[in-house]
Amino acid sequence: MTQLAEPAVGVTTPAARVHHWIGGQLVEGASGRTGPVYDPATGRVARHVDLASADEVGAAVAAAKAAFPAWRATSISKRTEILFNIRNLVAERRHELAALLTAEHGKVPSDALGEIARGLENLEFACGVPQLIKGQYSEQASTGVDVYQIRQPLGVVAGITPFNFPAMVPMWMFANAIACGNTFLLKPSEKDPSAALFLAELLRDAGVPAGVFNVVQGDKVAVDAILEHPDIKAISFVGSTPIARYIYETGTANGKRVQALGGAKNHMVVLPDADVQMAADAAVSAAYGSAGERCMAISVVVAVGDVAEPLVDAIQERLPRIKVGPGTDPQAEMGPLVTREHRDRVASFIERARAQGATVVADGRDHPLFRDSEGFFLGVSLVDRVTPDMDSYCTEIFGPVLEVVRVDSYPEAVRLVNENPYGNGTAIFTRDGGAARQFQFEVEAGMVGINVPIPVPVAYYSFGGWKASLFGDLHMYGPEGIQFYTRGKVVTSRWPDPGSSSVDLGFPRTR
Ligand code: NAD
Repeated sequence: MTQLAEPAVGVTTPAARVHHWIGGQLVEGASGRTGPVYDPATGRVARHVDLASADEVGAAVAAAKAAFPAWRATSISKRTEILFNIRNLVAERRHELAALLTAEHGKVPSDALGEIARGLENLEFACGVPQLIKGQYSEQASTGVDVYQIRQPLGVVAGITPFNFPAMVPMWMFANAIACGNTFLLKPSEKDPSAALFLAELLRDAGVPAGVFNVVQGDKVAVDAILEHPDIKAISFVGSTPIARYIYETGTANGKRVQALGGAKNHMVVLPDADVQMAADAAVSAAYGSAGERCMAISVVVAVGDVAEPLVDAIQERLPRIKVGPGTDPQAEMGPLVTREHRDRVASFIERARAQGATVVADGRDHPLFRDSEGFFLGVSLVDRVTPDMDSYCTEIFGPVLEVVRVDSYPEAVRLVNENPYGNGTAIFTRDGGAARQFQFEVEAGMVGINVPIPVPVAYYSFGGWKASLFGDLHMYGPEGIQFYTRGKVVTSRWPDPGSSSVDLGFPRTR
């Protein structure tokens, strides 16, 4: 594992408390409540995180509100310069940040660096804010009258993020939010809270003024305070579907703009003409990377027709070569799961699938680290002959369990995907361009891969699912992120032309 070049926030001592970041400095929690932060590779509590009270959320909102007028008045060129600085600092310090992700999330360093690389893309996109925030201008809309639209920031906006991408998902949000002139309040997952503080320090070093970026650590108490606070104008959320729905319903009922991204059950359809070896490589990478704790992980392979047998064989053949281990082991490709509770829940689905008639081809509980380690390890599982009525199919497992549903035809495969309540990502593997195009046309999901298993859009497009995978109108980051974090103002202007004015009570006409 990459050594820490210098002490990083929150990991300097094993028992350090993880605090808030308010008004440009670390602020110790005052609520008296803390939560445990585990090292998933050892199973031990590594440190504790402060859990904010509503008053502490209020203090962070007040700091963000106080910083807003000066930040929105800061020139676009100055804000852009600061964003370039942030981008460069995150790139320079990415190994330290990756080490924090490994320490608290458990993902292996290569995966952690990949997460940061995708976050950096968002910072790079936001560096283009001078172009992105440009308005529109219509000269001579009426005689002597010009009409133009400008886009202005909303004010204080909040981001509530999940455990599985503690660096990237905050960057999805705050890069565009602050580029557009908003001030930001981040409530990271309490399971891996230190990355947020590390980012806060980098932002300060990059020249972000105090109060523009704040971090409040916490749980439901902090989230509810955010949902209710009258000075928060918009909320971006990423997490599980039940919480996403709650955030959307409560936030909008309180008059806020909300985008709430939820869970997923991503299907990869493999047609009989697909390159089986390529499809097997893709399925294994997309199902087990990051221990399956990705919202874009492939959790279901839909094998069409006679591809099923060779495909399951090809996937099975690859499984013994996957090296499971702690992020400190340079050979490890897949780390532990985030908590013991989550690991055990994931493992329970293997048994349930077997009891309901599926064939367990590989059982992650057979891995020695599952049995012998105190860490939250689970080996990879492959479950064949799953049917849509089984519990393991109906639930987002969010772990290293890949299920195979066998169907007879392409229409049956598409129906299966479309009838699933989630619609985050999906993929098709085929050599038939016409079939791929038809799939793209009719499949009900927000992100589609054609021979690409994890079609996470690059930062100059936007990320979002359909159905129960997203509540709200706008997808996250990219152009739709700019739209989310700004509101339009249309100005109709006429300069005095002596002698041309008269009283007219009619509705304004443009001719
Ligand atoms: P989660 O829903 O448990 O938590 C997300 C955030 O909500 C955290 O900050 C947490 O503190 C807060 N929270 C949790 N319970 C709450 C409650 N009862 N009331 C208010 N706030 C609450 O999600 P997670 O386990 O951290 O992350 C995994 C989930 O996130 C998976 O379902 C995954 O699919 C989803 N996810 C989705 C995307 C996407 O882009 N659609 C991306 C990453 C993760």
